[in-house]
Amino acid sequence: MLTKEEAETAREFIELSTGRKWRRNGATQTWKRSPERFRTPVKFGLYGYGQLTELNAADFAVLASCECGYHGPKQDHASPGPCKWVS
Ligand SMILES: [Zn+2]
Repeated sequence: MLTKEEAETAREFIELSTGRKWRRNGATQTWKRSPERFRTPVKFGLYGYGQLTELNAADFAVLASCECGYHGPKQDHASPGPCKWVS
């Protein structure tokens, strides 16, 4: 599950159902009158384009990297201990 804040700030995302990795492709659009809404343009590879919104946020997570070598959905990272996120 992607939060609005994550959708506004993260650079890389993972589609949980497919494992596909998506990269931000522009600024996140928000609406003052509809604070729950957001739209983040994303792409994968050369020809794949899409958007992350509050409607599909449940199928995405931030793609995170850690100094320990972990690379995947942040919520699946096993140890909060000595690990350190790298971007
Ligand atoms: Zn780690």
